[in-house]
Amino acid sequence: MIKLHDKFFKPFIPAKQIDEVMQRLATEIANDVGDEIPIFIGILNGSFMVVSDFVKKYPKPCEVTFIKLASYEGVKSTEDIQRLIGLTQDLTGRTVIILEDIIDTGNTLAEVHRIFKNENVKSLKIATLFYKPEAYKKDFKLHYVGIEIPNKFIVGYGLDYDGLGRNLPEVYQIKQTQHMTNLV
Ligand code: 5GP
Repeated sequence: MIKLHDKFFKPFIPAKQIDEVMQRLATEIANDVGDEIPIFIGILNGSFMVVSDFVKKYPKPCEVTFIKLASYEGVKSTEDIQRLIGLTQDLTGRTVIILEDIIDTGNTLAEVHRIFKNENVKSLKIATLFYKPEAYKKDFKLHYVGIEIPNKFIVGYGLDYDGLGRNLPEVYQIKQTQHMTNLV
């Protein structure tokens, strides 16, 4: 058990399991992409570990870049998504694969789709390490999903609780008490 700020978190997904999932995703995507040189785009801040580990396992040439959006404050998802920053390349005709740490409500993903609608990409695919099916409210297809998890707040492996926990190599789940009814 660990404590970050005022909340307790219990071990949930060990580093070894995450490593195996990242390997599976890298192999699967490399097989699907064929001879194309894809551009992997990580959504900061949460995806920095996902992207770093993923591209080390990706067995073929690829490009990597990051964009920044945000939809979370503390432990509650909000509709207040900031605008995208950081996309400078011309993506015309490119195979683009978004690498996400976690897909929760899908609000961030909706923003990503809105942004990429105007880029003349050859294909846009979504890969995510974690996915909360009970929380997902959108219809966008998720092409590659690492691990489906319950609708509970997690930290570690890039994911934070108010700035803390991103550096943890494994993932922890919030430990709920009766006083934490605002957390799902
Ligand atoms: P969505 O827009 O799908 O609701 O949420 C996506 C973003 O919210 C993620 O990129 C991540 O930053 C944050 N998020 C969603 N669920 C969790 C969670 O369980 N833990 C943490 N730390 N962040 C989350």
